Amino acid sequence: MNDPRQAFRPEADPQRIRAAFDAQLPTALRWRVSTAAERIARVKRLRDAMLAQREAFYAAFAQDYRKPPAEVEASEFLPVMDEIRHVLGNLKRWMRPRGVWPTAAMLGTRGAVQCQPRGRVLIIAPWNYPLGLCFGPLVSALAAGNTAIVKPSEMTPAVSALMARIVAEVFPENEVALFEGGQPTSQALLDLPFDHIFFTGSPAVGKIVMAAAARHLTSVTLELGGKSPTIVDASANLQQAAETLMWGKFINNGQTCVAPDHVYVHASVKAAFVDACRSVLQARYGAGAAAQKASPDLARVVNHRHAERVAGLLSDALARGANVLAGGEVDRNQCYVAPTLLDRIPAGAAILSEEIFGPLLPVIEYGELDDVIAEINTQPKPLALYVFSTNRRAVAKVLARTSSGGACVNHCVAQFAHGNLPFGGVNNSGIGSAHGEHGFKAFSHERAVLRATMLMTIKLFFPPYTKSRTRLIRAVVDMLRLPTL
Ligand code: NAD
Repeated sequence: MNDPRQAFRPEADPQRIRAAFDAQLPTALRWRVSTAAERIARVKRLRDAMLAQREAFYAAFAQDYRKPPAEVEASEFLPVMDEIRHVLGNLKRWMRPRGVWPTAAMLGTRGAVQCQPRGRVLIIAPWNYPLGLCFGPLVSALAAGNTAIVKPSEMTPAVSALMARIVAEVFPENEVALFEGGQPTSQALLDLPFDHIFFTGSPAVGKIVMAAAARHLTSVTLELGGKSPTIVDASANLQQAAETLMWGKFINNGQTCVAPDHVYVHASVKAAFVDACRSVLQARYGAGAAAQKASPDLARVVNHRHAERVAGLLSDALARGANVLAGGEVDRNQCYVAPTLLDRIPAGAAILSEEIFGPLLPVIEYGELDDVIAEINTQPKPLALYVFSTNRRAVAKVLARTSSGGACVNHCVAQFAHGNLPFGGVNNSGIGSAHGEHGFKAFSHERAVLRATMLMTIKLFFPPYTKSRTRLIRAVVDMLRLPTL
């Protein structure tokens, strides 16, 4: 576990950053015409270098926050490898210009959408999935034909240093460069007129990134966070809900952007649900506080600052009268907070308003689904929403009446790994989307190309605007009122 003070690494030199940015311009112009085969070759080089360092990644993750190798595989390598596989299988098709039918007023033309690389892109990543959230977007950026500068988080220095080595090994700086550092390095990068910024992190820093991008009218994809609510209704399969939620909440020790933040449970099944959750936690991490603390399958909170923050949310809730249903142990020195379930949390507790981003799960009892929906709709739109239910009407109601970046029914977190689904937030939880073709498009400019055909109906609209021509134009406009087929 890192103490940011001990893990201090120097910030990147702004002049080096500027030099890499300038050097990427001729490459970006050349890469505008790069073929699918050339892009795939770059992605494969990255993949092979990443896989060659598999064991080194295990060690780096262990050093940064004791992340178990199985979770490194399942939540870092797997999404990136799946992204790469998806690119290899589909890139040619994604790159092909897509013809579109002319609309009524455009008869006599042929239209097509041509995806072009945006050019020089910047990727800023958070610490919680340091490999997946750097190399995942980088794969999409390369597939779309861009050069890239990548800024990983300063909070996971061992993983960042390893990624820096890999990038330097695979790419010259005029193609892809990686700069380690914190806020000053980010700021130096944000001063540059990139063609696109892909930022993953908190809503608060997302606003800073968007304001910086506005100075150059740079387009942005913002992958942010928030409090993702979960509903377990009276009809839910409680065992399935408990097994799935205890995984989604406690993988990566709760430090997951799409982790279920809090769970609304129908009063009639709350006791049974909590019992099922306790049994799952004991079976997975051991019975008793000491066994769970010794479990090799629980990652740690990333550093002392965040351990203090998570422990503070817990102690604030307890001081206000919340009740511990499971867990509750804290060892700040070891950045350890046990997998914890809480209930009876009074209004006003910070845990109910701040993104938890740690292994604490508030369990909130409810009576009427409408009240839960109304409460969700008073909050900023979350990144994810989960509903566990076998009642199709209830599920349809929740999906229709709420808004969130993504949603799962009887599942959680897994939507992140589905390459054919757009991954992203809405308003406070993000702008734009990533993964698969959606990620390719995030890093592409969809250029509209219109070709005139023989008919050249546009000639109708040329001056001089004689009376008859004006009548003709008016007749065309009137024709648009005719019913569609
Ligand atoms: P963060 O916003 O603090 O940092 C993200 C990146 O921004 C880091 O590289 C950091 O160095 C940089 N940064 C920090 N302060 C900055 C500033 N003032 N100016 C410019 N750059 C700055 O986020 P974090 O703590 O690393 O990650 C946790 C947050 O990220 C949570 O809110 C989580 O929900 C969100 N997140 C979202 C996704 C997603 O895909 N939507 C994925 C992971 C994490």
